[in-house]
Amino acid sequence: MQVIQGKSASKGLAIGKIYCYKKKQEMVERRYIKDNEIDSEIERLNEAVKQAKEHLAQLYQKAVKEVGEKDAQVFEIHKMMMDDEDFLDSIIAIIKKERVAAEYAVSVAGEQMAKSFAEMNDEYMQGRAADVRDISDRLIDCLTGYSDDTDNQVGQFILIAEDLNPSETIKLDKTKLLAFVTAKGSVSSHTAILARNLGIPAIVQAGDDLDKINDGQMAIVDGYKGNIYVDPDDVTLTTMQKKKNDEDTVKELLIQLKGKDNVSLDGHRVDIFANIGSPGELDLVINSDAGGVGLFRSEFLYFETNTYPDEEMQFKAYKTVLEGLKGKKVVIRTMDIGADKQVDYFNLDKEENPALGLRGVRLSFERPEVFTTQLRALYRASAFGNLAIMFPMVASVWEVHEAKKFIKDVQSELKKEGHKFDEEVEVGIMIETPAAAIICDILAQEVDFFSIGTNDLTQYTLAVDRQNQKIERYVDTHHRAVLRLIREVVEKGHKYGAWVGICGELAGDLSLTQEFLRMGVDELSVSPAKVLELRREVRMTRVTK
Ligand code: PEP
Ligand code: MG
Repeated sequence: MQVIQGKSASKGLAIGKIYCYKKKQEMVERRYIKDNEIDSEIERLNEAVKQAKEHLAQLYQKAVKEVGEKDAQVFEIHKMMMDDEDFLDSIIAIIKKERVAAEYAVSVAGEQMAKSFAEMNDEYMQGRAADVRDISDRLIDCLTGYSDDTDNQVGQFILIAEDLNPSETIKLDKTKLLAFVTAKGSVSSHTAILARNLGIPAIVQAGDDLDKINDGQMAIVDGYKGNIYVDPDDVTLTTMQKKKNDEDTVKELLIQLKGKDNVSLDGHRVDIFANIGSPGELDLVINSDAGGVGLFRSEFLYFETNTYPDEEMQFKAYKTVLEGLKGKKVVIRTMDIGADKQVDYFNLDKEENPALGLRGVRLSFERPEVFTTQLRALYRASAFGNLAIMFPMVASVWEVHEAKKFIKDVQSELKKEGHKFDEEVEVGIMIETPAAAIICDILAQEVDFFSIGTNDLTQYTLAVDRQNQKIERYVDTHHRAVLRLIREVVEKGHKYGAWVGICGELAGDLSLTQEFLRMGVDELSVSPAKVLELRREVRMTRVTK
């Protein structure tokens, strides 16, 4: 048995077999070849094209069965693109002229072609840039022998990876995941948040020892202690199995709290809502008996696609959640892309300090057509439930004015087109910059509600990068500076007419529940897996001193 120590990012126990996730090479190395290797390199390229076309034919058949002929067409189109003579000729020309390996030539030719599509004036042609990148990636995968087997894995598994970014995580089949373990990563990264939302154990910073683990080995993940037991001995296996049974029993006991009020011993009420990232998590919310959705991280919809999700696709996603929640409040946050949440097809420039750069509502202002598409989808969906919209990363009053101007334009467009929508949709902002917290009295007069994003509020207040594992000792989530800001936001929010919720990870920190209730927080939004635990805590709390 081997015991590896990491850091707990999501509590819980998992027992099962390991699957090692192989990260795709982000950058294709420029590898030089000799003159006499040119022919064999072109031969490798032809073989890869053949292999890629076979994959695409299989994917087409699979997609026809799963999603129907129309949506499967994309794979047929990609297969045809693999035969495009201009594309293949330009790859071969680069191999010959620059004396470089085929994968590097594919990446250069693919990027040139994608860029020329992206710069065209026609929206349809711009969309083809993503297709070109997709087929280039597929060819490179064939040339480098990379394969992502998660789809082919039978049964559930514990996923081991060097690190995972949000867009890689979102593409995994969650029904197969028993737990995540990563060599790097941080507790407040979005991948760790996703594990908590799904209610599965997760461990980060397990280090290089993970390299020695192989696919198919048995392991136990102890998400309470941050330990991984690989090939556990009989005694450990029996002990942990018993703990897991106890854990399941506690979960069953919590189920008895379904339908009960979130009310403290001395009668203080609070709403407990759930955080989600996609309509796929709707069942988790319903099963958790949450009072609504306090944070729908809409950017996760953008991670699932290879190009900008269109209005119809977004409309359907929002409508599904609103209808599923049957009139309960659903707070959807407009896309918070940027910083650690990168999306390839946005083609964002590299920034020195992305967390302080073009992210959240700033990026929405920079891409007005993308923002308008999202707002149109949101307002159209508002006719099907109880929607509230909020904007991320606001720091100044003018940003609220500008966002509201977009809303006004979208509303009058929709009216002209005869679409039905709810004119009373609540509009709020996230409080996640110290600036927003400090001017909350002014901001409260502009919006219906605040939702405090404690993950970023902590990052920006304490000047600690939430992604940087080296400075985790400086990340004091109970720092008085953050708690004072929260208290101030609740007090001023109420004074100036805005209700106040907390949707960052701190909302689920049971050691602060009493303090939050004392402050008078109206709503706490946590991962679905945490809702009943928080309800139990509220019901055991005495608020008045
Ligand atoms: C937050 O910052 O607390 C928050 C809820 O937003 P995210 O974690 O998605 O940045
Ligand atoms: Mg945030």
